[in-house]
Amino acid sequence: MELRLYDTLTKEKRPFVPLDAKNVRMYVCGPTVYDFAHIGNARPVIVFDVLFRLLRHLYGEAHVKYVRNITDVDDKINDRAARDFPGLPLNEAIRKVTEQTGKQFHADVDALGALRPSVEPRATEHIAEMREIIERLIAGGFAYAAEDHVLFSPQAMNAANSSLPRYGALSNRSLDEMIAGARVDVAPYKKGNTDFVLWKPSKPGEPSWPSPAGIKAEGRPGWHIECSAMAWKHLGEHFDIHGGGIDLVFPHHENEVAQTCCAFHQQRMANYWMHNGFLQVESEKMSKSLGNFITIHELLKDWPGEALRLNMLKTHYRSPIDWTMKSLEESARTLDDWYRVAADVVPGGPAASVVEPLLDDLNTPQAIAALHGLRSNDIAGLAGSLRLLGFLSESAAQWEGRKQQASGVDAKEVERLIAERTAARARKDFKESDRIRDLLAAMGVAIKDSKEGTTWEISR
Ligand code: AMP
Ligand code: ZN
Repeated sequence: MELRLYDTLTKEKRPFVPLDAKNVRMYVCGPTVYDFAHIGNARPVIVFDVLFRLLRHLYGEAHVKYVRNITDVDDKINDRAARDFPGLPLNEAIRKVTEQTGKQFHADVDALGALRPSVEPRATEHIAEMREIIERLIAGGFAYAAEDHVLFSPQAMNAANSSLPRYGALSNRSLDEMIAGARVDVAPYKKGNTDFVLWKPSKPGEPSWPSPAGIKAEGRPGWHIECSAMAWKHLGEHFDIHGGGIDLVFPHHENEVAQTCCAFHQQRMANYWMHNGFLQVESEKMSKSLGNFITIHELLKDWPGEALRLNMLKTHYRSPIDWTMKSLEESARTLDDWYRVAADVVPGGPAASVVEPLLDDLNTPQAIAALHGLRSNDIAGLAGSLRLLGFLSESAAQWEGRKQQASGVDAKEVERLIAERTAARARKDFKESDRIRDLLAAMGVAIKDSKEGTTWEISR
């Protein structure tokens, strides 16, 4: 069976044919590093990690290049830096914020079982490429400088009767309607009300770089141009897959396509545009004001990262997810069982029953159903399939040990109580042995007696 992927641009599932099977290329928009990542941000990380793993499985590890950027220049970063480090010069404070947040992001996504991408470019290290693209856009008549800004004109793009894509095609919007519906208080330096910023002047103290287009004042890039520059540098003018959350389709991805295709005279930027659906929490939109804003960092204090991962993959990536504690508990229990039976066995190859649904536009819910099927008749296949999906990074003992640690249960104390109970049973003091069993249960410890002796585990 071949891999088929849904493309947001053409609105259909198509067989995936890479431009070069020896160099399969994927770009995913990464985080803006100013605060802890929330559980919604974990969704593209996990979804595209599964795709990365599947592509490596199909084309070979050496033949897949996955780029996920880090946006380290942004107003939100500047605000945070000024607030958290009021005594420091802004640029130093910004470095502190982006370094800390970047480290935290890595710790979070490592715990989720996500492989590091092949390259994680930082926006501030690609200013030269951004300037180059901007100069090309001006030379081609798609962009202009005004009052120390450089603006891109979607109207100029759609007026060019060349082989360029149409502005609005990706997000399925008409430029005429956008023009008619645009806000009235458009910045005075914009020629058209849908023109968007490629470059803007920096305020005093803000990060700044020499500007393109002969602008004397130093400035900084707009958000959209960053991704066009980093994708170009690391993947070329035209590549296979571009991904991100559904909220990025407009304006971010629409503008990336416009910039890249106009600068390099391409019909397409990426051959497949993939977007994950949104995540909400207990049936509500996640927001700070509703108090249901959950960071990955907080969840990891109570749950293993792989439980978050499994819980995310229970829903197809294009559907919305309702994130609930009930479902998370179930996912953790499922993994307890899979760890117990499969973590320490020699894995077989991934089972066809798991790989086939993945090939069908990453149908992870069906792949997980297949895992449950393997549980009863093919443990080696279960182990191999779980590994393909990024699970079983620990041994069964490590998994159980962390569970004990997280629960605050003292393993030595449990062993001591079990020994006491065994002694009570030997002298037929069943009142005492029941008392100890209840005590253990109250501590969250479940015990099981068998011919070999008594085993125990943390009950979830
Ligand atoms: P941001 O830092 O807001 O640009 O988001 C980083 C990534 O997380 C982008 O791909 C977003 O589309 C994605 N994202 C943000 N919020 C959610 C959410 N609630 N559900 C799913 N994906 C999200
Ligand atoms: Zn982007």
